[in-house]
Amino acid sequence: MFLTFLGTGSAIPSERVQSGLLVEDSESGDETEPIVLDCGVGVMHNLNRCARVDDVGDFLLTHAHLDHVNDLPAVVKADWLLGRESVRVHGPPGTDDTVGGLMDAYGYLKEKTTVEVEEFEPGDSFEVAGRKIDTFPTEHSVPSTAYRVDDSFVYSGDTEPVPELAEFADGCDVLVHECSFPDGMNMSNHTHPSELAEVVEDCSVNRVYLTHLYPQTRGKEEEMAETVAESFDGTVTVADDMMTVEIDDG
Ligand SMILES: [Zn+2]
Ligand SMILES: [Zn+2]
Repeated sequence: MFLTFLGTGSAIPSERVQSGLLVEDSESGDETEPIVLDCGVGVMHNLNRCARVDDVGDFLLTHAHLDHVNDLPAVVKADWLLGRESVRVHGPPGTDDTVGGLMDAYGYLKEKTTVEVEEFEPGDSFEVAGRKIDTFPTEHSVPSTAYRVDDSFVYSGDTEPVPELAEFADGCDVLVHECSFPDGMNMSNHTHPSELAEVVEDCSVNRVYLTHLYPQTRGKEEEMAETVAESFDGTVTVADDMMTVEIDDG
């Protein structure tokens, strides 16, 4: 399985676009249909750089914040022009209101396309595009979920440090975790490097990738990765847009 970081940024612009991850079986994505996790502003264009936008039928959202959702209408319009007339969007409570509201704003798209929203309670497990999906409630300002895909990797979405996430990721190869701000910045709803170090201390994954970086992290990436790595046996990497990593499917 290959994971490509379509966007590693946040709500304040930087050289990184907003949140998005592409999951595919091979770099050309030819076996199982690829899926996309989160679809913030800029994600559609980066998706187009490594796959066909209309190859993706399922979008999994961690929560209904703008920097994780707002490229969806653009994707739906591109899909329609390219011949795909329906997509499915999966997410925690709040997804239907937000995505439904976005589509309501574009009546002409609503007439031409179908956006099916499937909400779940974080903690539920289900299958999407032939992949096993487990979810876990995280701590953010709105209902928010972490995803575990095919027992291979976990993606935290936006969250305060949640110690139980280490257990949720147990047995996976990779943990992709938000690390929005450097230590020393007093921000709630997100995770700082020293807090993430405590979460991953006993986590059995091989690799941790940091994402959802605000511009305040610029120039501090190495220091942040070193802080997280202090108590962790595996490797810690600050992800970049368009970085592709191969994941052990176990
Ligand atoms: Zn958020
Ligand atoms: Zn965010």
